[in-house]
Amino acid sequence: VYILAIESSCDDTSASILKNDSVLSNVVASQKIHEEYGGVVPELASRAHQQNIVPVVHQAIAKANIDKNQLNAIAFTRGPGLLGSLLVGTSFAKSMAIGLNIPLIEVNHMQGHILAHFIHEDNFNKPEFPFLAMTISGGHTQIVRVNNYFEMEIIGETIDDAVGEAFDKTAKILGLPYPGGPLVDKYAKQGNPKAYKFPKPKVEGLNFSFSGLKTSVLYFIQKQVKEDPDFINKNLYDICASLQYTIIEILMDKLKKAVKQTDIKQIAIGGGVSANSGIRNSLKEAEKKYGWKTFVPKFEYTTDNAAMIGIAGYYKYLANDFARQDITATARYSI
Ligand code: ATP
Ligand code: FE
Repeated sequence: VYILAIESSCDDTSASILKNDSVLSNVVASQKIHEEYGGVVPELASRAHQQNIVPVVHQAIAKANIDKNQLNAIAFTRGPGLLGSLLVGTSFAKSMAIGLNIPLIEVNHMQGHILAHFIHEDNFNKPEFPFLAMTISGGHTQIVRVNNYFEMEIIGETIDDAVGEAFDKTAKILGLPYPGGPLVDKYAKQGNPKAYKFPKPKVEGLNFSFSGLKTSVLYFIQKQVKEDPDFINKNLYDICASLQYTIIEILMDKLKKAVKQTDIKQIAIGGGVSANSGIRNSLKEAEKKYGWKTFVPKFEYTTDNAAMIGIAGYYKYLANDFARQDITATARYSI
């Protein structure tokens, strides 16, 4: 089975070709324009998707070395995400499916982040059902009980900012360009994680909160800069390391709680922040410390990509779960 998958939920235009559960191509066009604004500008994102979508799809097909007439279905991200961005991918997928007279498959972006773990790779272990997935991305922070490919239950989530926002917004306070997450990760490697102490939020159950951290970092930096205008420059590595340490502690505390509550010791992480080296190390340690089995997606499947939409599409294809032609994109879409 050959599936073309399209992802356009935020600021990356991506197309991928899968042969069954193997990825033949995964093309991602990132939009640089948003850097100037320190965040994604929805209107500009939709316009860039319109420019990118045709060449990106062409490239994905060419790289896979197949002919478009070999495609068996087209999968696309229906939501959640920016509506204007989703409309581009959704409309394109519908038109192409009509043109080729093949079925259409709608995919939930967050299920895609989770199912990325099922992309076939040599020597790659897949989680077994049921497992816990922690989706940590630019718009979401959730702990999900995954019963099977499509039966997923959110057992905890953020009540305010997502963890990716916590990285990006605090990085912005430090004067780092958008998105700051990968830079905080890079600088943290050279700093002392115990140099500064930031407060952890007190949130009930398995829910998260990150807006308080952002505020306390802002006040802390403002106070320090008043005393020494060069404070950030001099201590950037230590600040980043301490910040990342706090964020990881918050995530790991809730994961431990979730394991206790569900008695499930298989943990998979997904979403852009799962690229973070600190969280990857903490999970490895937890394997030894608590006997967990942990799963981290391959680097290229952490941030937004169409391959993860393709693997979700593949399992829907096997289940004969197709979308109707009058389907519409939706900005809010729970898994
Ligand atoms: P969602 O999936 O919730 O709709 P999104 O698609 O915008 O949101 P992703 O592309 O999955 O988000 O992830 C982007 C986020 O990941 C950004 O906030 C970015 O800073 C963060 N990120 C990427 N790499 C790292 C890293 N190494 N360390 C920390 N954060 C990172
Ligand atoms: Fe995403």
